[in-house]
Amino acid sequence: MATPLNALVHEAQASGTLAGLPERHLINGAFVPALSGALMGTLDPGTGQAFASFAAGDAADVDAAVTAAQAALTGPWRALTPAQRGRLLYRVAALIRANADRLAVAETLDSGKRLAEAIGDVAGAAATFDYYAGACDKHQGDSIPLGDGYLAYTVHEPVGVTAHIIPWNYPLSSAARGIAPALAAGCTVVAKPAEQTPLTALMLARLCMDAGMPPGVCNVVTGTGAQAGAALVRHPGVHHISFTGSVATGIDVMQGAAPHITRLVLELGGKSPVLVLADCDIDKAVDNVLGGIFENAGQICSAGSRLVIDRRIHADFVERLVARARAMTVGHGLRNADMGAVNSRAHLDKIAGYVDRARARGVAVLCGGRPTADPVTGRGWFYEPTILDGLAPDDEAVQQEIFGPVLCVQVFDDIDEAVALANGTDFGLVAGIFTRDFAAAHRLARQVDAGQVYINEYFAGGVSVPFGGNKRSGFGREKGMEALRSYSKLKSVAARI
Ligand code: NAD
Repeated sequence: MATPLNALVHEAQASGTLAGLPERHLINGAFVPALSGALMGTLDPGTGQAFASFAAGDAADVDAAVTAAQAALTGPWRALTPAQRGRLLYRVAALIRANADRLAVAETLDSGKRLAEAIGDVAGAAATFDYYAGACDKHQGDSIPLGDGYLAYTVHEPVGVTAHIIPWNYPLSSAARGIAPALAAGCTVVAKPAEQTPLTALMLARLCMDAGMPPGVCNVVTGTGAQAGAALVRHPGVHHISFTGSVATGIDVMQGAAPHITRLVLELGGKSPVLVLADCDIDKAVDNVLGGIFENAGQICSAGSRLVIDRRIHADFVERLVARARAMTVGHGLRNADMGAVNSRAHLDKIAGYVDRARARGVAVLCGGRPTADPVTGRGWFYEPTILDGLAPDDEAVQQEIFGPVLCVQVFDDIDEAVALANGTDFGLVAGIFTRDFAAAHRLARQVDAGQVYINEYFAGGVSVPFGGNKRSGFGREKGMEALRSYSKLKSVAARI
């Protein structure tokens, strides 16, 4: 019997940790220490205290994991039919659900996010495995009509060993988003979670093993980006890299992949606009703008971090936003305040730096604008829900990804200006549109340069809807059937018969 959620929360609150958390790499079906023996600590952002340790991997550990993943490509894993692979993935989904409470509490401790959000992330990870379980035996090629005397067709073959560099903002759901389609396509996996949040990727890989995946199919190496991550993307045995993180690291990953012509999907964040037209349902738009920037304390690549609003409704709309933001509570994720912690001290300082510089430039800080702490313990890394108004299109706060609970407001007078503002950054991940005018919404959806557009519900969609960026937000698509194509090599066969 799994321990109930309230008992796990009580254990975590009383002891500051959970018993039995993984503390080693998972390589070739077994938990193993770093070959160097080195360990690192992971910190609870809600308290700022270390609560668990994990293996500090380096190139030698990465090499062991890639070697295991290469060997597993040709073993019993390859012998499974796609439908059998699908049954294994369904089993992983069921095991995620059976262990959901433990995964969620571990995720909250490691990332600082609210428990309610972590529970949602775990449910999303299970849904991702279900989706790709069902897709395994439907990933079919085409037959191509060349006429009499010829037979031509395409087949999807697994790309091989796939590397997954996972960020700290959605540790479990990002891991599932990459690992599930890679396995569904018949690939093997070496994942490297962020050093701030190593636990739930290890727990997920353990569940893959428990589901019956052969050793070496799903490996996890923990450690820093500079040591383990850089070694993984440069390893000649890796055939595909999925990277989610910052633009600067993405550039380094691209350079690391180049010598071996390793395939690459880059998901590099954004500065996504939420276009609010004067005819929208104001109450719904207010709810969505708040959720779009304050969920996960704004640490979301697809956060709606810029409100681009019609001047005619700007004053009233912003007044409502400010009242709601001021009423929000912050606190340790396990207590489910309105907003949890930000992930690290360094990241808190980075967010504060952006707002302090904006204030010094004379930007209006309508609410928030300060670091804060858990009101119960006085500890942890928190930042107040913050709204900056009247920003010029070239302002640093408009142009750069703050990755925190900071909404930047920009005002437009006509729709052309709205499009220019929406497209006026180097990013192109997501755009939101709020209007009751169906035709205007779809005209705007065509005009914005973004990988996905949400109309009248920010974050609408799910695992079946492809996701990825344009411009400096990266390239390639995850989720949906597109992800299966990423993890496959298309082979064309043409025969004279
Ligand atoms: P990062 O890009 O440095 O880290 C992301 C992942 O890459 C981690 O697993 C890290 O260990 C790994 N990594 C770091 N250096 C590497 C290297 N040289 N080779 C291979 N892997 C490497 O991000 P960060 O420093 O943790 O955060 C900085 C900024 O990145 C944030 O402020 C935010 O703007 C952005 N970010 C975006 C996302 C997103 O979802 N797109 C997620 C996390 C961070």
